[in-house]
Amino acid sequence: MSPITKGYKYPYKKVVRRSDPVIRWWQKVIPTEGCWHWTGCITKGYGQLRLEKHKKAELAHHFAYKMFVGEIPSDRELHHTCGNRSCVNPEHLVAVTAQEHSDRHWESRGYKWTPGRRQRFDANRKAE
Ligand SMILES: [Zn+2]
Ligand SMILES: [Zn+2]
Repeated sequence: MSPITKGYKYPYKKVVRRSDPVIRWWQKVIPTEGCWHWTGCITKGYGQLRLEKHKKAELAHHFAYKMFVGEIPSDRELHHTCGNRSCVNPEHLVAVTAQEHSDRHWESRGYKWTPGRRQRFDANRKAE
């Protein structure tokens, strides 16, 4: 420890704790050309951020959406178009209805939704 830092308490923790959630959010994000990687806590594949002490953690991608796009309508869910749950890039997020959300996930697994039933389809054949 150098004489300068000796006895000096680095206020990092205090500052971080008190600072704006937006700053704390950015501190845990590594933006790239593609997905933005969340380096903070991840639960069930989703990034989490505790906004205030003793309060429920907020989903990191929900926070991103609110910050860049706006409020998430109460009848919508956020879907990752990149399929990467821990991604927090607002451009990879879309607010969809629960039905559409479920359809998108079925589609990503190679199913096509038709009224009344779900049909398996060949994703490669569709591309031809
Ligand atoms: Zn992504
Ligand atoms: Zn989804």
